[in-house]
Amino acid sequence: MEVRGYWPIVLGCALGACLAIAAVILLQGSQNTGLGVLCLILIALLFPIVGGLAIGAFRAQRQALLDEVARETALEAQVAQQRAAVDTLADGLDIAIIICDSKAIVQYANRKAEELFRFEDAIGKSILAVTISYELEQLVLNALRENRSIRTEITIPFPEEKVAVAEAWPDITGRRAFLSLYDITALRKLERIRQDFVANVSHELRTPLASIRAMAETLSDSGEDEELRGKYLVRIVEEVDRLSLISEDLLILSAAESNPVRHQRVDLADLVRSTVSQLKPKAAEVGLELNYEGPKSAIIAANAIQLTQVAANLIENAIKYTPEGKVEVSLAQDGNMVRLTVSDTGIGIGSEHQERIFERFYRVDRGRSRATGGTGLGLSIVKHIVEAHGGTVEVESELGKGTTMRVSLPVGNPNSDQDSGQ
Ligand code: ADP
Repeated sequence: MEVRGYWPIVLGCALGACLAIAAVILLQGSQNTGLGVLCLILIALLFPIVGGLAIGAFRAQRQALLDEVARETALEAQVAQQRAAVDTLADGLDIAIIICDSKAIVQYANRKAEELFRFEDAIGKSILAVTISYELEQLVLNALRENRSIRTEITIPFPEEKVAVAEAWPDITGRRAFLSLYDITALRKLERIRQDFVANVSHELRTPLASIRAMAETLSDSGEDEELRGKYLVRIVEEVDRLSLISEDLLILSAAESNPVRHQRVDLADLVRSTVSQLKPKAAEVGLELNYEGPKSAIIAANAIQLTQVAANLIENAIKYTPEGKVEVSLAQDGNMVRLTVSDTGIGIGSEHQERIFERFYRVDRGRSRATGGTGLGLSIVKHIVEAHGGTVEVESELGKGTTMRVSLPVGNPNSDQDSGQ
């Protein structure tokens, strides 16, 4: 309170005293009327002064109060603004963040945490109830008990199995714990795919190499047996060809994986038409009809060599897995997309295999794939190239009736030569 705020009280007291004196004098009689009158004059003078000062003081108090309220409101707005900024920041993070009290009750959870554990309102619930993970609850409680940061890799069982790097640490009061979770499921899956790939490659190479070795040993012991010699030499050449095919496909796959797509102006209709023409003799050799239907031209931005590999792989597969009937290839432009369809009347693919045929080295029937010179890499090359172009590939098939492969590709901007990331 300001000093001048006391003046009205002091003057009020003086006024009261004057009033009292005046009243006593006036009530006692008229001996001291001069003093009484003086008191009344003083009262008359003091009234406006006291009133003015009181009003001034009241206004000053009111202003101070208003200023205080305004300061507090501004402070609250600032705090709310900062909180909203922190919330926005935390919600934008790719890391799940949960804050718990000393009993592992959730006080805060960001959006990523809600997505990871698929909960909506976690505040006030125990972390065990929210995450269904005993491991996480123990991590939080141990971090609080031991007053240190603990980091570990955990498996989240619910709602779907995920692997995450979890870290819990206490705040300075030791009464709250922060928990961060970084989802590494995709990373682990990628690692597993790479490990499987290396194992598959060595397996795929080992089989022909073992045959070559066994046949070479037999040949060296076979003496002058010309018939056996001829038979084994043919098989050795076949196995070597197989190895060459695998290494070629591996190189195509690795090039598709490591190089960004170099977009050029490509006439897809021309490209598909000439691939069909080149493969017609192959189809005719096994008694199959191979037809193409499509526009005269379909200009898109793409990599011509890679799209030729896509069309050739799909048509060759259709020929390989169709004992009789026909293979139809068609192209259609639909707005900003072009669709390449390869349909056959072949053996078809069981629904349980349809999702897996795009995996590297996956074959429905290993023996048949081997007999037709397959490497098990054709469709994974197709998928990789198509996705690197921003497109999709789908399969529709019925066992014994046939298969349809549909590739959708964006037209892009055919007039600009440019690199695009994969
Ligand atoms: P492969 O070299 O064995 O043909 P791909 O990766 O091209 O390998 O195909 C994977 C598997 O998908 C093949 O082994 C085959 O079982 C199946 N497949 C692919 N295309 C067809 C098709 N048109 N009809 C039937 N099965 C197919």
